[in-house]
Amino acid sequence: MKRSLRKYLYISYLVAQFSLCGTSYPQVDQLPEISRWYNSYDCAISLRFDDNLDSHVEYVIPLLNEYDFKATFMINPGRNYDEHKDFWEIQLPQMGHKLGNHTWHHEGAKNPEEAEFEIGEVSKLIWQLYPNESKLNVFASGGGEEWGGEPWEKALPVYKEIVKEYYLIDLYDGNHPNIDLNSDYSIKEIKSIINETISKRKYQAFSFHKIGSKSLVDYARKIITGYNYTFEEEQLLEMIKYLNSKRENIWIAPIIQILKYETEFENSTLELVKRNTDKIVMRLKIETDPSLYDQELTLILPTLDNLSPVKIRQDDFEGIIFQLSDKEFISNIKPIESSIVIYYK
Ligand SMILES: [Zn+2]
Repeated sequence: MKRSLRKYLYISYLVAQFSLCGTSYPQVDQLPEISRWYNSYDCAISLRFDDNLDSHVEYVIPLLNEYDFKATFMINPGRNYDEHKDFWEIQLPQMGHKLGNHTWHHEGAKNPEEAEFEIGEVSKLIWQLYPNESKLNVFASGGGEEWGGEPWEKALPVYKEIVKEYYLIDLYDGNHPNIDLNSDYSIKEIKSIINETISKRKYQAFSFHKIGSKSLVDYARKIITGYNYTFEEEQLLEMIKYLNSKRENIWIAPIIQILKYETEFENSTLELVKRNTDKIVMRLKIETDPSLYDQELTLILPTLDNLSPVKIRQDDFEGIIFQLSDKEFISNIKPIESSIVIYYK
């Protein structure tokens, strides 16, 4: 009896140690843990469309809506924008898609004052369009544009400071791998990238420009710059259908939601406070700022002596428990320092 109690205490100790460096626990001791991805999906994929192009309005967004996939649109309100202004500013946010900051004119900036306008005004516009959301957003500096005479990667710190001031995550900081898709990719290659994303349980970001056949300008651009800027409509349709066939496995979401989840996940720990026959009490510790990082985290709830969880409380809030399969239960919680109590009776 004493021996088994010691063993139990030792395992609890191990669990507490484990919980300090992550959220994986030994199998023998089932405790709640934070899911690697939202809603317990195997992996995450984001779809990003740059430059507010007509093909996005005419083809991409209706297609995404048909399959109920939410994407990120990196906009330049100062270029090719006014014709569809209402679409970008009223309809698109209502559809659940997100806008990202791609600078006002897509021309870089000669000096910090210009950069303040190019970056800041787009952020202010997007904040206005999503008044109930956190200010954290994504930023892409453009293509080969210069910032104070340098490419973005080599631009002076003063330019990067502006990005920080506006709570922007710089997608070109070297830490945000992305596959820029064009018609040189075969659908077979794309499917294999998607399959690998699932099997490795990771995050894959995809970006696109124009969707449709190459125009003469596109052919000329490819010859001059070597850069293929188009992705065929049929390719996108095939890709979306394939993602749809795997939608049970993949969290397909706007970039900002996935990045928030990743950062919250990496900066949180769950500690066991106590466990008895009818409840488990945990402490959620999290280092992210809840006013910026407000993406719900998914908690995987274990059974307790074969009992299913019946109720969950996070501080004073009562959460909802979802049953995914026979013994698989999850609940989505707020990313805040809190006490979590799971009841089994
Ligand atoms: Zn662009």
